Order: sequence, then C-alpha cells, then structure tokens
Amino acid sequence: MGETVALSEKSPSEIDAFLQTQRTAYDRLVTQGLKLDLTRGKPSAAQLDLSNELLRLPQGFTAADGTDVRNYGGLKGLPELREIFAELLWVDPEQLVAGGNSSLTMMKDCLVDLLLHGGVDSERPWSQEEKVTFVCPVPGYDRHFTLLESLGIEMVTVPMYDDGPDADAVAALVKDDPSIKGMWIVPTYANPAGSVCSQDVAARLASMPTAAPDFKIFWDNAYAFHHLTEDEAKSADIVKLASAAGHPHRPLEFASTSKITFAGAGVAFLAASPENIAWYVKHLGTGSIGPDKVNHLRHVQLFKTADGVREHMRRHRDIIAPKFAEVQRVLTERLGTQEVATWNDPAGGYFVNLDVVEGTASRVVELAKAAGVALTPAGASYPYGKDPKDTNIRLAPTMPPVEEVTAAMEAVATCVLLAAAEKYAT
Ligand code: PLP
Repeated sequence: MGETVALSEKSPSEIDAFLQTQRTAYDRLVTQGLKLDLTRGKPSAAQLDLSNELLRLPQGFTAADGTDVRNYGGLKGLPELREIFAELLWVDPEQLVAGGNSSLTMMKDCLVDLLLHGGVDSERPWSQEEKVTFVCPVPGYDRHFTLLESLGIEMVTVPMYDDGPDADAVAALVKDDPSIKGMWIVPTYANPAGSVCSQDVAARLASMPTAAPDFKIFWDNAYAFHHLTEDEAKSADIVKLASAAGHPHRPLEFASTSKITFAGAGVAFLAASPENIAWYVKHLGTGSIGPDKVNHLRHVQLFKTADGVREHMRRHRDIIAPKFAEVQRVLTERLGTQEVATWNDPAGGYFVNLDVVEGTASRVVELAKAAGVALTPAGASYPYGKDPKDTNIRLAPTMPPVEEVTAAMEAVATCVLLAAAEKYAT
C-alpha cells in the first residue's frame, strides 16, 4: 500500500524526498521500453470474436416480409431488426430507423439537416440564425465537440454529475437564449464520466422551457446495454418523457451495435417522434436508396431476440469487467492514500474518468508518452480540447489484454505521482 500522509500535507523536505523517489521510479519505468495504449474505447479482439458468426451470416437473403435484402430499398431499415432494438430502447418500431454502421454519422446527418433545412418545429434552417449554440456536459465525448466545432456550432459547458448533467444549469441557459438550439448527452454510462442520467434529470430536460422552439436533445445512448455489473442500469425513456411533457420532437436518440458486434460493421439506430423520423428519412432519401439490409439480416439471425442482445452483452461483460477491476485495484493501491487523484468506478460503458492534481493532467500524459504509454490527450473531454483546470484524463481499458492494462495502469500511477510531486515541490 502507499504512504498514509497526503502529499499536500507533507513538509517541504518530505516532498523533496518524495520527488526523488518518484523520479527514480519513473526513470526505472522509462527503461522498461513499454509500448502500451489506453487511448480509444475500442472493443478487444476477444470481444469482436463473440460476433464472428456474423461472418457466416446471413443464411438466405429473404426478410420476414419476403423482401430480397440484397436489393435497394427500405430506407428505415429491416423491420425485424428494428423490432428487436425498439424493444430494447422502449420505442415503437415505427419510431426507429436502422441505418449504416455509425451512429456518429447519423448525428452528423441530423445536425447538417437541421442547419440546412431546419427541423420539424423550426422557424427557419439553423444556418439562417445569427448563432447556434449547444450545451455540452463536461467531461464529455471528444468527437461530439469536434463535430460541433467543424459545423461552426458554439459550445457552452455544464458540469456532468453522477445523475447526469446539471439540470439547473441547463435549464437556466436554455430559458432565455434562443441561440441555444440543443444539447448533447450520453445518458447511460457516459463517456467518460460513467454516470447514468436519472429519471428525474431526464424528466427535467424533457420538460424545461426553452427559448428556442426547436431545441433538440441529442441523446447519444451509445452504452445503453454495456453493463459491467449485474446491476443493469435502465436508461430513462427520453422519447416518452418528452412526448408526455408536450415536447415530442425534442429528443433524437442514437444507439448502435458498434460495441455489441463489430465496431466497424455494426448497425446504427435513431429513435424519435414519428414526425422526426419522417423528417430524417425524407432527407436521408436524397442521398441513399436504402441501407445495408444484408447486414441488418445478419444481425437479426445472430441475436434472434432482444434477450439475445442482453445475453450477448453479458459475454462482453465477462471479458471486460476484469480489466476495469484491474484499473480500480492499481489506482487504489498506488494512489488511494496520496490525495493526488480521484476517479470513478463505473458500472458500465468503456471508460474510467481520472482527475489528477489541478494543472498536472497534461504533464501526466506527457510523462506517460515518454514512458511508452499512450493516453488520450489531456483536455480531450472538453470543447476545443481545453480543460480549464487541466485535471481530467480519460482511461480506456477495454482494448489491451488484462496484463497490459495492469502494466499501463502501474505506469499511469507512477506518472500521476511524479507530476503531483513536481507540482508540490515548486
Ligand atoms: N457515441 C459515443 C458516446 C461514443 O463513445 C462512441 C464511440 O466511442 C460513439 C458514439 C460512436 O458510435 P458509432 O460507432 O455508432 O459511430
């Protein structure tokens, strides 16, 4: 176990001695010539192997209604696949589109369509507004922020708490400012905060008054079924909550099988009000004659039912839960008593959120890189890559084998301690 006195409470000479110890430990680490990577939240090869049957499917090419899936058509996606995922996402199959392999692409499509054409409840296309702003809970998903930035959409941040975004802060922002057209939220096992948006918070977001009549919640439920424990969190049903609150067109819910089957060859979904679905499909149809229904049928034959998906996710859990446990073990053993870091112990999703001593996150990432351990760049979880406190680091332990997770986390702990010692010593 580590020492019992917090670093911040040590005397200057103790801190100096501590710094020397950490430098020695770090120098030893560098000589190991590690080559480890905790950056992107990708499934491991063992997880991908769970779906290898897909490579031999589909058997046949005829859908339940007689459609030849090899041909064009069926913009909303294969009905039997939509039925399975509609049950999982608690929407009517008519309110669900099954598309290509990426939900991020669907999010981009929706944003571009809103900018170019406006939504079903817009007064004009968003691009004709003087300014368009999104509320972004932080820490959040870097690709959401990059996408908004690329489209010229401004970002304001609110804190992400254990029960979801700070609903008071969101409500205060959207109440009077008509330029605020939407918000992101990863409601279940958030990337990277791990939090699950509570029913209460979801209900507030669904019902809060907004100055923009066409305010949209981009409800990115990428980790809806990605439980790490037997206590499986249930996502709030944003589509029904918003409908009941009189704002049926507010939510656009996204999900995908990227971390269920193949990250590069899965199926993405959009759930929303019937009017929003018709709006999406209308614009989709100007650039597509239909999705990859062969892939849809393959997925139907692999899962068969919604329970088939749930069962499949338990097999993922068995592979990745030990890696998350290892992250907790090393962080607790190495940093638990030092008061140089806090971290979450997520019950699902793909990430662990590590907060280090203020002003040292970039230094930790730099030290780790020099020691051969790739970490997500500090600040990535904030718009424009700028973490105002330089404190947040996202750890993604799913991809490497468990021994590499252990080695990488030992290295991270050494870097956190050295960066903290350097800071307190100055
Ligand atoms: N949304 C979140 C929150 C993610 O973390 C990711 C992948 O890391 C994605 C979306 C990407 O999803 P897809 O593969 O369906 O485009």
